Amino acid sequence: MAEEILQVKRNGDFYYPIYFEEGFDRLADAICTEGLEGRNLCIVTDTHVEPLYAEKVKRVLTQVASRVSVFVFEAGERNKNLNTVQQLYKALIENQLDRKSLVVALGGGVVGDLSGFGAATYLRGIDFIQIPTTLLSQVDSSVGGKTGVDLDQYKNMVGAFHQPRLVYMNMNTLKSLPPVEFACGMGEVLKTGLICDADFYEYVLANHEAIRALDTAALAKMIRRCCEIKAGVVERDPKEQGERALLNLGHTVGHAVEKLKDFQLLHGQCVAIGLVAAAYISWKRELLTEEEYNRIREGCLLYDLPVSAEGLDEAAVLAVTKKDKKMEQGQIKFVLMKGIGNSFIDRSVSDEELLEGIREILK
Ligand code: NAD
Ligand code: MG
Repeated sequence: MAEEILQVKRNGDFYYPIYFEEGFDRLADAICTEGLEGRNLCIVTDTHVEPLYAEKVKRVLTQVASRVSVFVFEAGERNKNLNTVQQLYKALIENQLDRKSLVVALGGGVVGDLSGFGAATYLRGIDFIQIPTTLLSQVDSSVGGKTGVDLDQYKNMVGAFHQPRLVYMNMNTLKSLPPVEFACGMGEVLKTGLICDADFYEYVLANHEAIRALDTAALAKMIRRCCEIKAGVVERDPKEQGERALLNLGHTVGHAVEKLKDFQLLHGQCVAIGLVAAAYISWKRELLTEEEYNRIREGCLLYDLPVSAEGLDEAAVLAVTKKDKKMEQGQIKFVLMKGIGNSFIDRSVSDEELLEGIREILK
């Protein structure tokens, strides 16, 4: 186990590796293999992850770096903003990071997005590596090169495409992750299977006991497949002009629920609800069988994800869904399923169909 590396295409012919490991020990080797040794490094992390893993990571990195500093900011999406980025810039200057230096993102998607953006813009761009510690960041946000921060209530309003030089996952970090955060990551995992790999979807359902018990072999297989699929989609469509939109499966209605619930439900939970809505619309169009529709709900339930949201007004959900940024010329760019593992983009979903899907998740 744990010898697996996935090579992901960066710009043109340039590849970077994703490591799937059970500890931090091989991080030093990974850095050297990429020719990143001897540099001035800054570990960027948050207040939840710092006490758990920063010391160990610093110890390993010290073996291969000229200097290692740590920048910690308060955990939480509300700190993924330009104020924190400014503090990060100051820390990078104080610690004398130059154009050859390296930012090390140690944490979940918030840390990864913010550090990546800091690295993309500091001195017009320096290298960074990712050490994702949430399931969501391991299967989703650490792949694809999107970095950025929020501006007031606008999510990911300011950002840049900046690919990491290396992604290093220590799957054992998931052991300290709160169960609800694990479930949220599973929302994106289920989505990934539903987009383009029916066998993978079945694997995730069939192996739910091992996966929930954080069995490393089962996790490695699952996380790796998610990275492979996302990397493939992103490689073929880096700037979201076509296929990349498939990654929004479940996100259209999901985002509306997330907003209206005023963030009482976490993103991955809303994605699960959105998957059910998309599946319902697909079933009503006879693109999915009833059995397949139920299998999709079952996947969510097996991983403690909600399949409905109570207490919302259907007209409000419809209105917010239609305001979604994936609207093009008045028509929503919706992702539907033609069987499990075969998603496609559809611009013809009517308000009536959408309402039916919404009613199904408000039951
Ligand atoms: P997060 O980074 O806020 O992590 C969730 C919580 O878990 C935080 O409180 C964090 O401190 C804590 N945590 C992290 N690792 C831990 C561990 N091993 N043990 C215990 N606690 C731990 O959130 P997330 O769900 O990882 O990521 C969400 C963010 O990712 C959002 O800002 C979203 O916009 C972004 N995102 C980006 C992309 C992309 O392509 N760049 C894709 C999807 C999501
Ligand atoms: Mg998402």
